[in-house]
Amino acid sequence: MLVLMKVGATDAQIDQVCEIIRHRGIEPLVLPGEPRRAVGIPSSLSQDQRVDLESILGRLDFVSKITQTSSPFRLAGLEFHPQKTEVTAGGVTFSDGRFVVIGGPCSVESYDQFLSAAKVVKSSGATMLRGGAFKPRTSPYAFQGLQEEGLKIIKQVSQETGLATITEVMSPDMVELVAEHVDMLQIGARSMQNFPLLIEAGRSMKPVFLKRGPAATIDEFLLASEYVLNQGNNDVVLCERGILAMDKTYVRNTLDLNAVPVLKGLTHLPVVVDPSHGTGVANLVEPMAKAAMVAGADGVMIEMHPDPNEALSDGSQALDSEQFSGLVAELKKLAAYCELSF
Ligand code: PEP
Ligand code: MN
Repeated sequence: MLVLMKVGATDAQIDQVCEIIRHRGIEPLVLPGEPRRAVGIPSSLSQDQRVDLESILGRLDFVSKITQTSSPFRLAGLEFHPQKTEVTAGGVTFSDGRFVVIGGPCSVESYDQFLSAAKVVKSSGATMLRGGAFKPRTSPYAFQGLQEEGLKIIKQVSQETGLATITEVMSPDMVELVAEHVDMLQIGARSMQNFPLLIEAGRSMKPVFLKRGPAATIDEFLLASEYVLNQGNNDVVLCERGILAMDKTYVRNTLDLNAVPVLKGLTHLPVVVDPSHGTGVANLVEPMAKAAMVAGADGVMIEMHPDPNEALSDGSQALDSEQFSGLVAELKKLAAYCELSF
């Protein structure tokens, strides 16, 4: 249930509404929004409680109306937050009308490898550097990442190049450590519904880059983002990275570009596309990155490696330095056509 306040309702009037709700043993949720704010009430109310609250709150002259919630996305949805959210991480802003390119290797493998990738990312005009230090691998025998040493390399290379950084955090107890080393926390596709991790990432107040689970519906994806937002952390960027493919002969995943306009119609959060994991094939990355821009994405995350044949993870989808720089140049041209700043 939602109590919609009249435009210009004061904090004291919102407090009064909250007190009435709390007095009945129910915890209200104040929802931000311009020009009008609202107070959310959990949907688990009994019929009697609903009738009681409707009649008491309905009498207050600063309450505009009381409605049953139509959207389960209280915080991520556009209903009470129609203006688009801008998320800034390390000086890089994700927002409507702008296109961000995040580039870098799947894994941080050594200082030299990461610095060399970072130089290409920087000279191409991309603004955020990625690289995994803790790697979620299907097999426990595959390279698991350099872990803490990887985090130190990311921080050092960021200081040397001035690039903003993002890396994956896999467990709640690592959030604090990872947050000290990078500008943005990536929650990987496999962790999209690790609720304790989402809560801890929310509490950290660090910008969060949430990847869609390979089998997650759009609703599940947005509800996962609510776990972060619900901690008071509004800096969430959503990332479509491909869903389970019906036919894996030619691709690793099916990049669900439908998700871009669908999400844009449901949420105020920025939406980024990862065509590297979305296809799993290097020569499909460029066409799908361009398609993502045209579909309305606010950026792309692209895996690149100075020597893809030697990559310790995801080499088959990594662009080499020349391909990466070429792609960024192509995206810049397309951005001008799409009237996006870069
Ligand atoms: C990654 O970004 O390297 C990664 C593991 O991505 P995803 O969680 O989308 O598989
Ligand atoms: Mn990868």
